[in-house]
Amino acid sequence: GSAVDADFLRRWLGTATESIEREADHLTELDSPIGDADHGGNMRRGFRAARTAVEQEPPDTPGAVLVAVGRQLISTVGGASGPLYGTLLRRAGKSLGDEPTVTAAQLRDALRAGVDGVAQLGGAVPEDKTMLDALLPAIDALSGALDAGGSLAEVLAAAAQAAEDGAKATIPLRARKGRASYLGDRSIGHQDPGATSSALLIAALAQTAQE
Ligand code: ADP
Ligand code: MG
Ligand code: MG
Repeated sequence: GSAVDADFLRRWLGTATESIEREADHLTELDSPIGDADHGGNMRRGFRAARTAVEQEPPDTPGAVLVAVGRQLISTVGGASGPLYGTLLRRAGKSLGDEPTVTAAQLRDALRAGVDGVAQLGGAVPEDKTMLDALLPAIDALSGALDAGGSLAEVLAAAAQAAEDGAKATIPLRARKGRASYLGDRSIGHQDPGATSSALLIAALAQTAQE
């Protein structure tokens, strides 16, 4: 289908949690040379808590699902990524309001609002080697694919590809934000863990639309 409802985002949460669980060791490996080797554990803890909360008390609008996930991430992840992802999802959820179903364009606008919140809170700009380097290209690709008339599955696939490319493109960058920035030039040559987890979360959205 082309509409996004609460069930769609609950399925996204299940797929995203499985993907984070599968990739947790890899995320932690990426966080070892340029961080404190906890990103996989942080994300796994947060997404498990979010999935449990949403299963126990299933929200009935897409906005409420995102707000609930954001709230869990803020209270359980710890680290820089918890408040940043929490802000992204809460803002996106609030932007969707109480609508029972939203269009791909509304989802795009909501994600844009959420990502703007990440930029505001963390103060990062493109090429600072952060999650924004996956998130911003993903929103731009989603937007471009929508303007070209793509279906929900097509626009989310475009977003996922751009996020993955953006995450890989962090490898040659020097980190200017977060723990990795303490390393200066020694942060060059490593893929950013947060950009990598962002790409996983957006890939899970694309996968949900294909099911
Ligand atoms: P911590 O660094 O506190 O251990 P995590 O390891 O969970 O937190 O998350 C690290 C990731 O958070 C980084 O890879 C980066 O993508 C992201 N990050 C850190 N600081 C910022 C920031 N100021 N703006 C955007 N993203 C950031
Ligand atoms: Mg870390
Ligand atoms: Mg940490």
